[in-house]
Amino acid sequence: TRLYDDCDYYDAESLLTPDERRVLGRLRRFLDEEARPLLADYWERGEFPHQLAEPLVRLDLMEPAELAANGPARGIYHGFRNFELARTDASLATFYNAQSGLFRTAVRLGASQEQAKEWLPKVVDFSLKGVFALTEPASGSDIAGGLSTTARREGAGWVLDGEKRWIGGAGSADVLAVFARDVADGQVKCFLVEREAPGVTLEKIHGKTALRMMQNAHITLEGVRVAESMRLHKVNSFKDVAAMLRAMRSDVAWIAAGMQAGAFEAALRYVAGREQFGRPLAAFQLVQEKLARMLGNVTSSLSLVVRLTEQQSKGIYRDQDSALAKMQVCLQLRETVALAREVVGGNGITLDTDVARFHADAEAVYSYEGTHEINALVVGRAITGLGAFR
Ligand code: FAD
Repeated sequence: TRLYDDCDYYDAESLLTPDERRVLGRLRRFLDEEARPLLADYWERGEFPHQLAEPLVRLDLMEPAELAANGPARGIYHGFRNFELARTDASLATFYNAQSGLFRTAVRLGASQEQAKEWLPKVVDFSLKGVFALTEPASGSDIAGGLSTTARREGAGWVLDGEKRWIGGAGSADVLAVFARDVADGQVKCFLVEREAPGVTLEKIHGKTALRMMQNAHITLEGVRVAESMRLHKVNSFKDVAAMLRAMRSDVAWIAAGMQAGAFEAALRYVAGREQFGRPLAAFQLVQEKLARMLGNVTSSLSLVVRLTEQQSKGIYRDQDSALAKMQVCLQLRETVALAREVVGGNGITLDTDVARFHADAEAVYSYEGTHEINALVVGRAITGLGAFR
């Protein structure tokens, strides 16, 4: 049986091997049986269901043992894993991606060979849990120029001062990958800071109306000491950070595609089950037009991320490629969740049908890892050769 019967008309899942599909099937069962029953309640309370974290790790999804015979897991598998998680819930997908996408990419691209040898296996088995702390209160989109957290060399180590904002999953991390500007050469560097280190303060960001289950932190760093050995040795300027962002954006595009699949499937279930005027909602022409548009969005989003991943698997990484995917899939995400919410009527604004959760959560995914405008400007620069950021 196929995993994505309803939302994958062009059979993108045929690109997966039987072993990869088996791992995803295992994830599907966990999500349906263990996670789904908790989602509405935890979303409403604005808390993360931490009881899911350990079983999720035990599922061995990052570099599954049963795929190891053929080398590291393929990009298409990683993409579909994000798709599958997000199809159930965007907070769960974002939580997992904080480790598998953001932190792992920081270590993979930023660590020296020696550091990578020590840390990467621990990142994969979650014995070293980390987050990506780049954004600051005063610098979001213009972080390249505006990054103001400082790193000062002192003796054999460094001293960090500054603030970070929006850092996803920081509360349950062992280390924070903090990007800071070296006061001596003005370049951006990256440090693995222990969450419990003296001078580190975390404050939960309250009152979110999207991704309420996912916890985001405001972090203050005051005279925080870090050893030179905890600096990622291959991060020596913002160019190295940009390479990380380029790689990470495709993970988010997969999440945005998965959320569309989840919203579409929930809407489909609903309109098939509810009757008005003596017929199921699904039988009305205007409802079918919305279902067709949702499926069109899911299908084109999935096609886009699959093709992007195929390019990246060949080693082709260009800023404009992942920016285009993140921008376009998130535009379609916003439309898909709005259509899903429409066909569910009044129940589309309660947590009962899953649709409202996707509808609200879409707003966070639309803005994180590069807003619509910033990704459009990256693409615009590639099209015209003219940077229009300022
Ligand atoms: P701003 O930069 O203030 O932008 C506000 C608006 O102005 C946007 O619409 C933007 O597109 C527009 N704008 C800005 N500049 C221009 C321009 N030149 N031209 C046209 N329009 C422009 N960061 C991390 O480092 N780690 C994380 O784990 C993390 N997780 C996050 C999780 C969530 C739920 C959210 C909401 C954010 C997270 N972020 C994280 C931060 C995220 O990446 C930023 O929110 C994002 O980069 C946008 O920055 P900003 O919110 O400061 O918006």
